[in-house]
Amino acid sequence: MATQIAFAIGAHPDDIEFSMAGTLLLLKKAGYEIHYLTIGSGNCGGAEYDGPTLRTIRNAEARVAAKILGAQFHPCLKDDLEIFHDLDTLRRLAALIREVKPTVVLTHSPQDYMEDHTNTCRLAVTATFARAMPNFKTIPARAIVSNDTAVYHSMPHSLRDPLRRRIIPGAFVNTASVHKTKHAALAAHKSQQKWLDVSQGLNCYLLAMEDMSREVGRMSKKFKHAEGWRRHLHYGFSAADNDPLREALGKNYLVNKAYERGLD
Ligand SMILES: [Zn+2]
Repeated sequence: MATQIAFAIGAHPDDIEFSMAGTLLLLKKAGYEIHYLTIGSGNCGGAEYDGPTLRTIRNAEARVAAKILGAQFHPCLKDDLEIFHDLDTLRRLAALIREVKPTVVLTHSPQDYMEDHTNTCRLAVTATFARAMPNFKTIPARAIVSNDTAVYHSMPHSLRDPLRRRIIPGAFVNTASVHKTKHAALAAHKSQQKWLDVSQGLNCYLLAMEDMSREVGRMSKKFKHAEGWRRHLHYGFSAADNDPLREALGKNYLVNKAYERGLD
């Protein structure tokens, strides 16, 4: 079988660790090659340093986190609050998608509290869609790829959309067995401890991840720690029933039947 490859695409250094890293670690255990990219540099995530200094600090922290996860690290493309669904970024991200050739793309929710996240989600979806289209030019130029891919959206912060409505996962992943490593990778983002306390009222970013993980676990009615996912509609990506997380994760993957029936 061809190599299975998962590509996590977040907006900021630490976003992957908050809501995607457990699944990424389980995929690695299942034999996947795993990749790590944040579109944004994290340069606005603090007030103690100027932008370029913080960009350097956060790049170093993200590299440590990716190493803890055992993921291949890719350098960011933009600065914070400068992430838009624009052609230049799209061409650069599409080149990366054609290089990495992911069979699974993990990214943000189309609904989330801040637009770097939702714009990253749109970029990831469009860049993946464009992987097989020869008339879409990438920067740098890369040959098309035609493998099946499934795109999964992680849960938004506080499990709500920007209008405060609850978001229900389409599937749950049991992350209990890799929770310690996920926690260690998040803790590598040391610069975020104080900043998130003062800027966003998060008591502690590590506790915030812990709470979210337990809350999604409770929603599953089965797992102590969990990450929630919604699989993107398959058109342009693969056959209708392509659900590689289900295939790779076995007992650790639970489809939310209520979501599938449209009862959420
Ligand atoms: Zn973020």
